[in-house]
Amino acid sequence: MNIILLGAPGAGKGTQASKIAQKYNVLHISTGDIFRANIKGGTEIGKLAKSYIDAGKLVPDEVTCDIVEDRLQKDDVKGGYMLDGFPRNIFQAERLDKFAQIDLCLNIEVDEKLLMDRICGRRVCSCGQSYHVSTLGGATACAKCGGALYRRADDNPETVKARLDTYNSQTAPLIGYYKAQGKLKCVKSGEGSPDEVFAQIEEILDKQ
Ligand code: AMP
Repeated sequence: MNIILLGAPGAGKGTQASKIAQKYNVLHISTGDIFRANIKGGTEIGKLAKSYIDAGKLVPDEVTCDIVEDRLQKDDVKGGYMLDGFPRNIFQAERLDKFAQIDLCLNIEVDEKLLMDRICGRRVCSCGQSYHVSTLGGATACAKCGGALYRRADDNPETVKARLDTYNSQTAPLIGYYKAQGKLKCVKSGEGSPDEVFAQIEEILDKQ
């Protein structure tokens, strides 16, 4: 099963992606993670991506699509994969349709008013786990692996505002795109816990 995870920044895509990958044994591919690894490694792609990411803008489509197309050539995707953060606009979705067969698009819906607090209070670990400062009780290490928690460079109010604008103008139209293809399923991520959101996802995936 090949899945796209859609949702605004802060909707909980990363958290749900880890749970889905674990239970359904699909490979988690996050374009944001790929860019962050490139920035850390000081690659040419990383240098290019950093300026866009810091501004809350999308990295150019050609670069992003080529990365995903290359990634989907590898053997480890054969058992099924989940794209987290790709596609981010209609151009990318149309490109993806040329080199991949997508079965399902899971859209995580969330009230926009919650997003700013969620993202600015987010603390992440390099293992992929993320937390909110309000539930950490001052802890600075990851409860899962003991790694040091940090705030993503683009999780600051100014960049978050730009990321939300980018989402609304470029990414939200994908909801209609996948609905028209008959592949869209929506779950609600309000005040509910990650486990409650995951229960809705399980209901959908168990029927696939
Ligand atoms: P994320 O971790 O998904 O929130 O992505 C972090 C940042 O990486 C985004 O704000 C974009 O600047 C960039 N990015 C991630 N995925 C894409 C994509 N599919 N197209 C363009 N830029 C992306």
